Amino acid sequence: MIRRLAIIGVGLIGGSLALALRRAGYCGEVIGCGRGVANLDEAVRLGIIDRYETDPAQAVQGADFVVLAVPLGAMQDTFAVIRDVLAADAVVTDVGSAKGSVVAAARAACGEVPPWFVPGHPIAGTERSGATAAFAELFQGRRVILTPTATTADDARRRVRAAWEVAGAVVEEMPVEHHDEVLAATSHLPHMLAFTLVESLSRMSDSDEIFRYAAGGFRDFTRIASSDPVMWRDIALANRDALLTVTQRYRRDLDELMDAIARGDGQALLRLFQDAKAARDRFCH
Ligand code: NAP
Repeated sequence: MIRRLAIIGVGLIGGSLALALRRAGYCGEVIGCGRGVANLDEAVRLGIIDRYETDPAQAVQGADFVVLAVPLGAMQDTFAVIRDVLAADAVVTDVGSAKGSVVAAARAACGEVPPWFVPGHPIAGTERSGATAAFAELFQGRRVILTPTATTADDARRRVRAAWEVAGAVVEEMPVEHHDEVLAATSHLPHMLAFTLVESLSRMSDSDEIFRYAAGGFRDFTRIASSDPVMWRDIALANRDALLTVTQRYRRDLDELMDAIARGDGQALLRLFQDAKAARDRFCH
């Protein structure tokens, strides 16, 4: 059980975790924190939090479980503000989409990665933001990756794992670097492709017509280009090395595809499309 839960950043992810834990009866009071009161008032109205503070140092007072659900670029400042005012029994976790940068932020703010900090990342989300986007079922049956470091306390790890399981998630652990490589390929690169495709088409002189006739495939492929730009700027910068490596590889493959189209090599195209379809069918079903 969590006595007092502090959610720093009451948006899609932080708000959904609060709702899931509340619905399970797993926590007592829930304190929210953000910069603007409009979103926090909405979070109170929706029953996500009981009350709020706009200063993270106030929000974590007396909390035994703290969730950092702010954009990656805000993590280091948040660690610096809360580190000296946490309750003695507090455990802190985050939900950031890249892990190396958050671990570096914790180290920079605290001198070392503190034993009470358990880095985490729920592999769940939508393209929507803010408290109004939150829903209790978001993590049901979805994976959450924890990337504890050598200094992470076992007890903290157990408590964070337990909370995510109560929220309905399947928890796995992996090293920080491995997480960032895997997520660069499966999430970060697809978002870069979606943003770039929409931007590229919208710059064409006949873009109005292009978008007017865009059908299901275009909508499916580009849904994630409606995601929050600040969040994705932070992710691209935070996971720069792994993202550049996988993007370069993708660019090589795209060049090969273009070469095959240019030389009219139907066999090469068919082989590529068949292999890709088989791989997707295998992992989706
Ligand atoms: P979100 O809906 O925009 O929520 C972020 C919240 O943080 C907002 O309510 C915002 O409120 C607050 N905030 C922003 N900057 C802040 C700051 N400097 N200090 C304090 N609060 C701040 O975003 P989200 O989708 O929940 O993402 C939150 C985290 O989850 C990010 O680190 C992201 O990488 C990670 N994540 C996202 C997804 C996804 O699909 N969306 C999936 C997995 C993980 P104010 O603007 O009022 O401060």
